[in-house]
Amino acid sequence: MKNRKILLSENEIPDKWYNILADMPNKPLPPLHPGTKEPIGPDALAPLFPEALIKQEVTTDKWIEIPDEVRDVYTLWRPTPLYRAFGLEKALDTPAKIYYKYEGASPSGSHKPNTAVAQAYYNKQEGVKRITTETGAGQWGSALSFACNLFDIECEVYMVRISYDQKPYRKIMMNTWGAKVMASPSDRTEAGRKILAETPDSTGSLGIAISEAIERAATRDDTKYALGSVLNHVKLHQTIIGQEAVVQMQKADAMPDIVIAPFGGGSNFAGLAFPFLRYNLEEGKSIRCIASEPSSCPKLTRGVFKYDFGDNVGMTPLLPMYTLGHNFVPAPIHAGGLRYHGAGVIVSQLLRDRLIEATAHDNLEVFEAGVLFARTEGIIPAPEATHGIATAIKEAERCKEEGVSKTILFNMCGHGNFDMKAYEDYFAGNIVKHELTQSDVDKLIAEIDTPDI
Ligand SMILES: *Cc1c(COP(=O)(O)O)cnc(C)c1O
Repeated sequence: MKNRKILLSENEIPDKWYNILADMPNKPLPPLHPGTKEPIGPDALAPLFPEALIKQEVTTDKWIEIPDEVRDVYTLWRPTPLYRAFGLEKALDTPAKIYYKYEGASPSGSHKPNTAVAQAYYNKQEGVKRITTETGAGQWGSALSFACNLFDIECEVYMVRISYDQKPYRKIMMNTWGAKVMASPSDRTEAGRKILAETPDSTGSLGIAISEAIERAATRDDTKYALGSVLNHVKLHQTIIGQEAVVQMQKADAMPDIVIAPFGGGSNFAGLAFPFLRYNLEEGKSIRCIASEPSSCPKLTRGVFKYDFGDNVGMTPLLPMYTLGHNFVPAPIHAGGLRYHGAGVIVSQLLRDRLIEATAHDNLEVFEAGVLFARTEGIIPAPEATHGIATAIKEAERCKEEGVSKTILFNMCGHGNFDMKAYEDYFAGNIVKHELTQSDVDKLIAEIDTPDI
């Protein structure tokens, strides 16, 4: 028998999260106040987040204890399996060994509950009654709905219009866990009404939905806001993925040469990659960590490293990050979770310092990769996850050309069982290559009105 699955037992669930801030040679620059453009401290976040999460946002402690209550919920689906992709390797006829960590095993079908459960727990501890959030493809909204329900907190979700229309089942999933779901832009907020007045048929964007959810939380005392990506504490919680994967790869006697993950705001990439990067930073190993983004939203490969807003309206602090500009409205590709204009500050600083790499794939290439994966490995990947698969395939093909055997690990960060519309469009030939022109990119970047870093 082939050793296809590398499993861990419940008592091997890590009891700490890994904070890469402790090990980074250059720490990220501080956030700036959106009006005064002066550095701001963590207390500026107090209207939006519970204290415990604000502490986690800024701490440079290397290890953060995972509360027992959170680990207890994690046992519903963790540790997640890690697979050797024998079928994919055979199809590619590659000497590379390909492994993937499967985060689609969670109740909502992606890595997102790893942080949703932690965030709901800390909000509950501090007496919060309601959490607002945005969701793109619906993955984050479903994860937070699931988590809030477990901790008896109300959940209010602003869902990007295009996904709301394309993915009705994600909405029903959230309703099943008891959440309220609004299509964004909505008429419930100032931010939403402003966009609707200018563009009545707006398909929405994550940036717009974030503005709406923040506005609701900032204007109510019993309500906080939760973000499913980008922020440091979100990345921190996701490191449970990579910590498990390190142990699993050691069990398989196969520490990877290359670690790959799809990239939206950076949380599943951080989650898988940071615990491996730790070996580079601590022991001088040279594991390549590659973030994989869509060529229609190429902030890492074609954006600029600048201070920019996290949302479209300009309510959030200015963050130092790789960005396409906060006015960027991406093409309505199916990988909704990868359509955000900026990258989290930690990942941005790591890329700036060349400690990680980035690559982009076009829309057609990723569906080809996703279908090949489904036909060889069985699991139908989320459209976001297909980006990581495409990068893994490219690296495996390079191994074949060069006649070398490398060990590749990628994050299968979610299944695509609710994304049949995307696959239907692909099979009908309706998925087309889409790339930003250089003049589009130049124009967007010129609109970022902050000093150079
Ligand atoms: C949300 C999501 C992403 C993108 O977000 P990251 O923070 O970059 O991980 C990627 N894949 C899936 C399946 C998602 O749900």
